[in-house]
Amino acid sequence: MWEGGKLAGGVERRPSPSKVDFRRRAKYGSRVRIQLSRRQFLVTTATAAAAVATSTAAETPSEPIIDIHQHTNYSGRTDAQLIAHQKALGVTTTVLLPAGRLYGLDADCGKNDTVLALAKKHPDQFVFFANEITNIPEAREEITKYLKLGAIGIGEQKFKVACDSPEFQQVAERAQEFGVPILMHFMHNQYNTGIERFDKVLEKFPKVNFVGHAQTWWGNVDKNHEQKAMYPTTKVIPGGITDRLLREHPNMYGDLSAGSGLNFFTRDAEHAQAFMERHQDKLMFGSDCNDVFGRGPGCQGANILANIRKLAPTRAIQRKILFGNAKRVMKLKV
Ligand SMILES: [Zn+2]
Ligand SMILES: [Zn+2]
Repeated sequence: MWEGGKLAGGVERRPSPSKVDFRRRAKYGSRVRIQLSRRQFLVTTATAAAAVATSTAAETPSEPIIDIHQHTNYSGRTDAQLIAHQKALGVTTTVLLPAGRLYGLDADCGKNDTVLALAKKHPDQFVFFANEITNIPEAREEITKYLKLGAIGIGEQKFKVACDSPEFQQVAERAQEFGVPILMHFMHNQYNTGIERFDKVLEKFPKVNFVGHAQTWWGNVDKNHEQKAMYPTTKVIPGGITDRLLREHPNMYGDLSAGSGLNFFTRDAEHAQAFMERHQDKLMFGSDCNDVFGRGPGCQGANILANIRKLAPTRAIQRKILFGNAKRVMKLKV
């Protein structure tokens, strides 16, 4: 859901590869051709072209951005609007998270069939997860069906179960079997309740990567978090449940999307910077943004991106959060 932006977003334009490459290649080719046989010429030219391509890439960085959290039909948004939104953000790969058969993740979000259809239509831009209501008998079959159809994860798990319930553990078993991550919406008294007991699940499924998201996930960066609070604005005392889960469990990750991710940055920028430093291999950019513009104060995705760019302690950490970690966790070829 959209919670409103507090900071103006900035969208960087990324230059496309220049035509100069080809002119340089042709020039180099004609110079070396004189002394070489045709075969030698072809080998040398290919090597030279590769060297030019590499140096050009370094000169004009065109880096990927992976958005690990988007939805089809989000609050009624069309596929064309979603594509335009992601393009405006500069996102190169988008992970589509379907709803279960009911509830639409509380925002009219599309189900498994819609994310599969969009990813099939634009395989260069979209990948997708599989999902189902955690505690219905059909969950196993439905999730398995879409994992077999190419889903690269399970989620968004946003249903009224405890995070250590037998039903959720059955979903974790599917993730273990297929070697995919699970993305979870933690919300006190609502979804995936009992975050203080999540250690046991992490220990029971050490090969499954779990990605935490939403109000109760981000609220608990604070050691003194009041569990009823959804978007706290107080300064953070480090050492909360979230901090501990990320520190102690190699299979726990964090999704910076949504109003809750944005609130993590805005409530205490100094803390956010230190948190990104210590969990630099665990955090991933996501937007979970339902507007149609992809820029400006109303676009929380743009605001989250701006905060990552502004507050990441180093360029290397920024790159990990914008695409490196997601590439590894989602096993993406980007
Ligand atoms: Zn979502
Ligand atoms: Zn947006």
